[in-house]
Amino acid sequence: TLSDRLTSVLQNLRGKGRLSEADIDATAREIRVALLEADVALPVVRAFIAKVKERAKGAEVSQALNPAQQVVKIVNEELIGILGGETRRLNLAKNPPTVIMLAGLQGAGKTTLAGKLAKWLRGQGHTPMLVACDLQRPNAVTQLQVVGERAGVPVFAPEPGNGVGDPVDVARRGIDEAKRAQHDVVVVDTAGRLGVDEEMMRQAIDIRAAVQPDEVLFVVDAMIGQDAVNTATAFRDGVGFTGVVLTKLDGDARGGAALSVREVTGQPILFASNGEKLEDFDVFHPDRMASRILGMGDMLTLIEQAEQAFDADQAEAAAVKMGSGRLTLEDFLEQMLTLRKMGPIANLLGMLPGAGQMKDQLANLDEKHLDRVQAIIRGMTPAEREDPKIINASRRLRIANGSGVRVSDVNDLVNRFFEARKMMSQMAGRFGLPGAGKSSR
Ligand code: GDP
Ligand code: MG
Repeated sequence: TLSDRLTSVLQNLRGKGRLSEADIDATAREIRVALLEADVALPVVRAFIAKVKERAKGAEVSQALNPAQQVVKIVNEELIGILGGETRRLNLAKNPPTVIMLAGLQGAGKTTLAGKLAKWLRGQGHTPMLVACDLQRPNAVTQLQVVGERAGVPVFAPEPGNGVGDPVDVARRGIDEAKRAQHDVVVVDTAGRLGVDEEMMRQAIDIRAAVQPDEVLFVVDAMIGQDAVNTATAFRDGVGFTGVVLTKLDGDARGGAALSVREVTGQPILFASNGEKLEDFDVFHPDRMASRILGMGDMLTLIEQAEQAFDADQAEAAAVKMGSGRLTLEDFLEQMLTLRKMGPIANLLGMLPGAGQMKDQLANLDEKHLDRVQAIIRGMTPAEREDPKIINASRRLRIANGSGVRVSDVNDLVNRFFEARKMMSQMAGRFGLPGAGKSSR
């Protein structure tokens, strides 16, 4: 994790009496690598390193702390700065209801967040109501109703049986209903797509214009890596937003992209989600997040742990992972996203020598199928991606509903994944790759 990396870097400074310029440079270089590996965007890393370096050099003279403590202090303070400094409270309307609109990609965790927010708001003495404006996927409304019931709050949804319905109209009527029933906060759940697309953005913009929200919260999966920055930029320039919510922090070893979101978009992070349950949610505190990243809470333990970490060559690690059958669906999704950024798969394969004979297969390999695979994996929790063996029948049903696919599609994907993993393991054995023969779990 980023925390391990940084701690290990700082470990080297322990026991030194004085921070030399060379020490600062070397440390800055290591922190840079650690941040980049944690998926923090390059411009953010550059700005961060520059600040830390400047301050570390200035701090040389006054020495109440030992060098390691000194650097920790500076890095910590700068991290807090990047994460937004002060805790940003929710903006409440002077004239209720306060309207909170959720926006973000499919699978980001919007609907789950709606329930979490509702529950949290109730705890604060509010009387929230949820409005179901994701009319894109067949089960989205039901999903919000389930979540609302769990949180103990009413859900406004379009009457069933009237065709697809207009989300803007539902949003408007939802607000009216909230006024009538005197709910003081309304949370509007919206539709997302797998990638940023014009129609989705248009719809979000229309909903925003119709309900004039006090907050538009951009919900982003902390696990999507560098993509978080691009997605955030697209939403900022599209519907626009007033705050960010990070989700799936429970499964994220590399929260780095999340770090960049606030710096790149200039919008504060308000809340953080760290689990599937409604309670797995909290107000975002930049200082707590920074010390979590740095591991300051238990500095010494982490320093010891970090001694053993850190040296493995990444490529080797990946090969071992494959060879030993420990490849996860998260790795798989990541590789797929990287590949797809290069353009349509068919074009890509078409460029390979000998692809002429593959014409038939190429024709079958449609992008829709890849979309579906992507949707299914996005609909999984971090734990499920890490260890697909835990995906039992009820989880399959939930994933299928959440991703708008059939259960058989989920079964298909999971089964094929296991086959592929086994095959890789066997191949690794035959070719004597590292990690071969290690047990698969
Ligand atoms: P939406 O498409 O943006 O509405 O996303 P959902 O709310 O349907 O969430 C997609 C999947 O992620 C579901 O399986 C959720 O249970 C799961 N999920 C959402 N937030 C979190 C979180 O903070 N941690 C974990 N582990 N899973 C989450
Ligand atoms: Mg949803």
